Amino acid sequence: MTEQRTAIVTGSARGIGAAIAKRLASDGYAVGVVDLRELDTAETVAAITKAGGRALGVGADVSSEEDVVRAVAEVAAGLGAPTVLVNNAGILRDNMLFKMTQGDWDAVMSVHLRGAFLMSREVQKHQVEAKWGRTVSISSTSALGNRGQANYAAAKAGIQGFTKTLAIELGPYNITANAIAPGFIQTDMLVETANRMKVPFDVFLEEAAKTIDVRRVGQPEDVAVAASFFCSEEASFISGQVLYVAGGPKA
Ligand code: NAP
Repeated sequence: MTEQRTAIVTGSARGIGAAIAKRLASDGYAVGVVDLRELDTAETVAAITKAGGRALGVGADVSSEEDVVRAVAEVAAGLGAPTVLVNNAGILRDNMLFKMTQGDWDAVMSVHLRGAFLMSREVQKHQVEAKWGRTVSISSTSALGNRGQANYAAAKAGIQGFTKTLAIELGPYNITANAIAPGFIQTDMLVETANRMKVPFDVFLEEAAKTIDVRRVGQPEDVAVAASFFCSEEASFISGQVLYVAGGPKA
């Protein structure tokens, strides 16, 4: 039997990250479940363990260099050197440009962009040593522009340029880097958006479904299947790509 590979999924206490962590565990990876507070990772870790997988919960803020170095070291010590990374942790600080504060801007840039940078830089040490790796970063259809999300759209477009550059720099080491750009996925993050728009969540979901070609909103598992594909052994010639997972075509 070949040695089990280790993956890290950031922001995997809930939502899309939790679905990706569970999917990668069922694909055979040991999974480092990284989120802001270790306590919050317990549910995802328990679900993986109960299904017969291996997981370790680690509390870390991906925008902190110190936390990132510690988290990757903890996963390496507990599960083995991580060679798969999914940059998923994210936050919203939506506002129209004229009302957006510097704090709103900086918070979003720190978690999405600095977080993806710090995590990828730390994990590539293990990937280069193994001469094998997969990095998947979660972008968004908002990268194409979205009202009230100047900060988030800029960060998610940034993730795409970052991904293509990783693909170029790390390709010679047999490491791929790809991005997934989800559309409307039913998670707590969108409860926040519905609240801001003062629309009940069920109405928000119904209205959104009408605008999506497949006439339903996405579920976290719809994103997890794409992450599983990019992380697979067979996807070794697919790198620097952005896959829109949005129930219809996006530019
Ligand atoms: P979610 O339910 O809000 O989950 C995000 C997770 O990230 C939470 O567990 C959160 O922890 C964690 N997190 C936030 N800041 C962090 C930090 N600094 N360090 C470590 N973990 C942190 O969101 P989601 O909908 O699953 O979104 C996951 C990713 O998909 C995000 O990058 C998001 O931008 C992207 N996305 C989502 C959608 C969608 O429709 N839902 C669409 C496109 C893209 P706390 O709970 O403690 O805050």
